[in-house]
Amino acid sequence: MSFKVKGKIVGSGELAVVEMEKGFIQSVQYSLAGSERITCPDDLWLAPALFDIQVNGFAGVDLNSGRTTPEEMEQVIMKLREKGVALFCPTIITNSFEHMAACFRAIAQACRNSKIAEAIPALHMEGPYISPQEGPRGAHPLQHIRTPSWDEFQRLQECAQGLIGMLTLAPEVDGAIPLVEKVVESGVAVAIGHTAAGVKDIQAAISAGAKCSTHLGNGSHALIPRHDNYIWEQLAADQLWASFIVDGHHLPPSVVKCLVRGKGVSRSILTSDAIAAAGMPPGRYRIGDLEVVVSPELRVERANSTGSGYLAGSALDLVRGVEPGRGYPHGFPESCDLDGDS
Ligand SMILES: [Zn+2]
Repeated sequence: MSFKVKGKIVGSGELAVVEMEKGFIQSVQYSLAGSERITCPDDLWLAPALFDIQVNGFAGVDLNSGRTTPEEMEQVIMKLREKGVALFCPTIITNSFEHMAACFRAIAQACRNSKIAEAIPALHMEGPYISPQEGPRGAHPLQHIRTPSWDEFQRLQECAQGLIGMLTLAPEVDGAIPLVEKVVESGVAVAIGHTAAGVKDIQAAISAGAKCSTHLGNGSHALIPRHDNYIWEQLAADQLWASFIVDGHHLPPSVVKCLVRGKGVSRSILTSDAIAAAGMPPGRYRIGDLEVVVSPELRVERANSTGSGYLAGSALDLVRGVEPGRGYPHGFPESCDLDGDS
């Protein structure tokens, strides 16, 4: 059975009617002259499905459990689709080699199912080669943060059956730059993140082939020098794309506006950094070794550090970060011009 949806196209604001049948788009009609009688809420927007490059878990499923089953992967895929996300990178964070290997093995095994694989362009490895400093390390377990190892990366890539497509690391840690060169040469994108890097380290990472900043503005110290700091340096680097967590908690609206304008919309990536508690009611959740509290406003903090200002991932439905007209924290005001050119 087919049905039609009418709404405004994101970007142009033009009205259009999309005809759907059996889950597929049959036609998009842009000119609504004539007898089109479909009604819809005034604020319905039509947009391509979203691609989230950083998903640690969703809807009660922890992708970092080391035991993710194909059924759980399907559950995450279906729940994300309900929220408008069609593609995503399962993200495995800092842990022991054995645990990270188990996580990659389990997800790669699930991806042998083509229905699962088609939703997952790549896996994202965030850590363990990151800064051990409080602030930059975020919620990554200190005891498992270690120095970069090409040998270890290759072994983890083997466990992932070659599916690791992105590595986030801190360029200032010993051995990071040679690793960036090797990883980039192997065809994997490198992002700078969870870092306390100086200007030289960031420039060295860029020269070695780093292409992105992971959740820029977060995974950082609470206080940093006003001019000479790793946020400005990455923001100013045109060679780097940057992902931003726009959940109303990770970055205040004014900061998002400045960061996205500074980086430029075309180099900015909306990401959720969602954890298993995303898509679930507010409450207390145990995710691996970490106990987190999700507030009614969907702010996620470590249970033993609530109020510290350090977050532990997000409970963001990605689309809520850009929904027009809903008002921050769940979307920008419709009038916010992120290009800053009008
Ligand atoms: Zn992170």
